[in-house]
Amino acid sequence: MVHKWYTQQLEQLRRDGLYRQMRTMESGPGRLIQVGGEEKLVFCSNNYLGLAGHPRMITAIKQGLDQWGFGSGGARLICGNSRACERLQMRLAEMLRKEASVIFPSGYAVNNAVLSTLPQDGDLIAVDKLVHASIIDGAQAGRAQMRTWPHRNLDKLKRLLDRGGYQHVFIVTDSLFSMDGDIADLEGLIELKRQFDAVLMVDEAHAFGCMGPGGCGCGEQGGGLDDIDIFVGTFSKALGGSGGFVGCSQVMFDYLVNKSRGFIFTTGIPAINCIAAEAALDIIADEPWRRQRLLDNGVYFRRRCQEMALDIGATQSYIVPIMLGSADKAVAAANELWDRGFMVSAIRPPTVAPGSARLRVSLMSEHTHEDIDGLCGELERIVVVG
Ligand code: PMP
Repeated sequence: MVHKWYTQQLEQLRRDGLYRQMRTMESGPGRLIQVGGEEKLVFCSNNYLGLAGHPRMITAIKQGLDQWGFGSGGARLICGNSRACERLQMRLAEMLRKEASVIFPSGYAVNNAVLSTLPQDGDLIAVDKLVHASIIDGAQAGRAQMRTWPHRNLDKLKRLLDRGGYQHVFIVTDSLFSMDGDIADLEGLIELKRQFDAVLMVDEAHAFGCMGPGGCGCGEQGGGLDDIDIFVGTFSKALGGSGGFVGCSQVMFDYLVNKSRGFIFTTGIPAINCIAAEAALDIIADEPWRRQRLLDNGVYFRRRCQEMALDIGATQSYIVPIMLGSADKAVAAANELWDRGFMVSAIRPPTVAPGSARLRVSLMSEHTHEDIDGLCGELERIVVVG
């Protein structure tokens, strides 16, 4: 029976310390979350700027609901394409200095749709080994060949591109890597893109809203925004909502709308998600101190970790891994932190390579130094002293 096989597989996961279980949140995603009847201080949220519960977001959403109701009622090519969605697409395109943008129901859907639709048979999709799963899944779902290059090793990427033999080449990377907190060498990638006449696709999911003078991400920060041909972002992290988008050329927009199964065969994103994202962009523009505080919290926490001689890899941001090696160790540390009132995720294979399990701390603009000091005190006790 098929269930017996599933049960055996699940038992194996348990034995390997890789079994996953959801916890049930009893309050919205803030700095503090009510869960299991207790309050936890959260260090694992993508709600980096605390916008998910921002009063201006809530007001905009309430007004939007009164005007639009909730669901979109259909696929975007049928009757599910709202004025709110169109307006946001134009705003995003303008922000990112692209000809167009296309909004999808999630960031995962964007990467899937883009990479299974734009690269064709005979094309190469070259990806950094540590890109997000949605990039790998999208690339594997399409007709082009996918090859990985070792994380941030542009010499190896160059060697891969030197081999040639492809019609078109798509170079694909995350900007801010979600499990390591380090940042792609976009300048180097732009050079290679020019040299090999390639298309550069950058997933800015974790940087959009937080990095860069206008909150556009790492590309903007380094002055390379115009060289990103395909810009992927999501509303689900700094923007505190849900949905994803790609900024691209007009012809790519047309091709995606006409050919992408992930666009055509799914219900359009509710107008309310777009209204929430617009409100989030307004807040990000009006309250730059949120971004600054997030970055400052990253600096402060990294310094504290270094003082404790914790292995935090090559992080340069507000995502800070604490490398522990075995999955069991990571889970035990996360459980101990949980018991002390801190919610930190243990990241294990297959999300990261075997032997590189870790605690992944993500900071928020709302964290105080006192919050961070509290976490550091526990880390010292649990990880450093052991
Ligand atoms: N890209 C990256 C780098 C991500 O980390 C994520 C989400 N974890 C996604 C894309 C998918 O975005 P969403 O959650 O909006 O589907």
